[in-house]
Amino acid sequence: MKCPACGNSEMVTEIKDEILSYSGQSLTLHTMKGDFCPLCGEGIWDEESYRRYTEAQAAIMRAVKGDVGADIRRIRKQLKLTQTELSEVVGIGKVAFSRYERGETRPPAPLVKLLKLVERHPELLSEMSPTYRPKREARLTG
Ligand SMILES: [Zn+2]
Repeated sequence: MKCPACGNSEMVTEIKDEILSYSGQSLTLHTMKGDFCPLCGEGIWDEESYRRYTEAQAAIMRAVKGDVGADIRRIRKQLKLTQTELSEVVGIGKVAFSRYERGETRPPAPLVKLLKLVERHPELLSEMSPTYRPKREARLTG
């Protein structure tokens, strides 16, 4: 395999520990395997190590920044809306919205702030979307 960074053709397979750190949190991944370039230091993890690396990266982000996806889901459930309904209200694609909830994509900060605002003031929803009406408990009137 050729180094994608410098073109050196002598990549060396190594097994080593990788330390991930972010904003004061750190996490060590043991026995990570990959091909490394002795010239420039570029490395490519094998499939399994790469998966572990991305999972650890997501975990460390959650530890530092909180689980925003879970926050969004909680707020949506509290508003008694489906992903489709809430994504329409805020004007975001349904697919993107479900990725935010699953933590696959980090939601834009303004969206998170908006949803936290709506969490405290659910009546604002009807202003954001003229067609949206808050769901009320079914009432029997006599
Ligand atoms: Zn290189």
